Amino acid sequence: MSKEIVIGVIPALFIFLAFMGVNIAPLIIGGLLIAIFAYFMIRQSGGSMSLGQKKTKNSVPKTNMKFEDIGGQERAKGELKEALDFLIHKEEAKVYGIRPLKGILLTGPPGTGKTLMAKAAANYTNSAFVAASGSQFVEMYVGVGAQRIRDLFKEVKTQAEKNNQDSGIIFIDEIDVLGGKREGSHHREYDQTLNQLLTEMDGMSTTDSPRILIMAATNRSDMLDDALLRPGRFDRKIVVDLPDKKARKQILNIHIKNKPLGAEVNLDRIAQETYGFSGAQIESVTNEAAIYAFREKSKSIDSKHFSLAIDKVMMGEKTDRETNEQERERVAIHELGHAIISEEVNPLSVSQVTVSPRGQALGYVRQNPREDRYLYTKDYLEKQIMVCLGGAVAEEIKYGHRSTGSKGDFDQALRLVHSMIDSGLSRLGIVKLEMLRKEDIQEESAFILDTLLEETRSILEAKRALMEAGAAILVKEEVLSGDFFRTFSSEEHKEVS
Ligand code: ADP
Repeated sequence: MSKEIVIGVIPALFIFLAFMGVNIAPLIIGGLLIAIFAYFMIRQSGGSMSLGQKKTKNSVPKTNMKFEDIGGQERAKGELKEALDFLIHKEEAKVYGIRPLKGILLTGPPGTGKTLMAKAAANYTNSAFVAASGSQFVEMYVGVGAQRIRDLFKEVKTQAEKNNQDSGIIFIDEIDVLGGKREGSHHREYDQTLNQLLTEMDGMSTTDSPRILIMAATNRSDMLDDALLRPGRFDRKIVVDLPDKKARKQILNIHIKNKPLGAEVNLDRIAQETYGFSGAQIESVTNEAAIYAFREKSKSIDSKHFSLAIDKVMMGEKTDRETNEQERERVAIHELGHAIISEEVNPLSVSQVTVSPRGQALGYVRQNPREDRYLYTKDYLEKQIMVCLGGAVAEEIKYGHRSTGSKGDFDQALRLVHSMIDSGLSRLGIVKLEMLRKEDIQEESAFILDTLLEETRSILEAKRALMEAGAAILVKEEVLSGDFFRTFSSEEHKEVS
């Protein structure tokens, strides 16, 4: 606003002075000189003269990360090494007329080791390494992002020269922030940043010294602008996925190397229980387990510490929320409902039942996935939905009504129901959710849920005595292990029959 006022006032002042007979020529020349000087100052400082703005430092100290220090990801590591070999053996690649590789895109969920891969790549190829994150480029000021891209290139070259290296790797994390799809004529400041990156990439050639390779990471490659994915730019895409059981065990092994492990700890079992965890979460489990052992002044990190650590990483820290006796009893009944159904539909599936508040939950049942799964049958999904419904049904049987505690369970049950419908596993046949009217989805969801609710109810009604006795112990003990729960269930069963 003040800029507009100044722009308006200055000419008016000049006209007034000229009218009064003052010679304004020196003033105009002086003003012009000041404006030109200011313009160059702004360009020098990266497009903005805003006070206190710091230039981000992107270089990372020489990395000694090796591919062997990354657990699992065998296929991704293999593909990456193969791509990097062109950089190492560039003379041979030239003989075959292979186009120089300019960009490698690593895609996958957060915490799966993409940054580790980029660092290992730099080490493998003896390259200089600089890293930045997409969010660092989002600035209010026009031109700052583009300037930062130029700085990155300058920095990697300087670093390579300093270390006598003839190649450099620039790693850009969260590239989707600056390289998202451009829609319509809507211009964003980071379009300039993206254009600058593309220009720099197009300008890179085999004869450059040092040779530069851009590595970028994202978990939303579908969101990237097509311009980035064109041949000659990021034309190598490597998927870095969540680790399977074998990979989880390798990652555990890497992170317990420097820790005193109890003799009875079964890493195979921990790998099984951490289904769906990323590498970063597994690292966190080993660290949290060590913290629990340290707090207890235990000589070694034992199974119980790992069990607590998995709960913490999965559900969040224990909260101080004080629940009253009645509430605890209701939560215990609710959790027993989940646990009984879980054992009924998948024997040996309960790993632990707890009634201590953690994160958002007041209690929870941890299930043991027996193997990693990538395909779900109708039968499997129905069983999982019944496990979700078990909590609410148990409350209904015991108290005659449900509580708000089942909201999360219902959300999850509905997600599973929708995935059943969307995969052609419902009465509607092969359909797409988007093709259906809301009422049709609702009717089919209600049918599936009602049928499964009935089935869940009849199982729990038959096991009411077990549910109540189990809940009473759970309120006292706070935690029941899966094995205890199974022994207790079979004893109850004998007593009843
Ligand atoms: P991303 O870049 O994919 O978000 P990072 O590479 O930054 O993930 O990983 C974060 C941390 O998680 C690492 O510092 C490491 O401790 C751990 N980690 C992730 N994946 C692995 C893996 N495959 N092997 C060993 N540690 C891993």
